[in-house]
Amino acid sequence: MTATPNPCPAWCDGDHPSGWSGVVHRGEIGRANVGGETVIVVILKSPEGPASVTISGPVYVEIHNDDHDDMVRLLTLAGQTDLAALVERAATILREAAL
Ligand SMILES: [Zn+2]
Repeated sequence: MTATPNPCPAWCDGDHPSGWSGVVHRGEIGRANVGGETVIVVILKSPEGPASVTISGPVYVEIHNDDHDDMVRLLTLAGQTDLAALVERAATILREAAL
């Protein structure tokens, strides 16, 4: 199997110095308490696709890159301002990394 360059993005918490092609890059943005459960906002990038913002914990949601603003608005309307702030921060990091 031939390794293709896949260096860590700035947001990756991992240590993937070789950057081999199978690496999933992962950066935890933060955790929020939602209804007594801990949910984690993470940026993930698998080898196959673009980086995306995910929410995990009792649920797993991958937020489409076109839907960050709407998800932040929905969470804010639902009173989940801590989680909304984390999603907004993750989206900003992704947007700036893509520039
Ligand atoms: Zn990495």
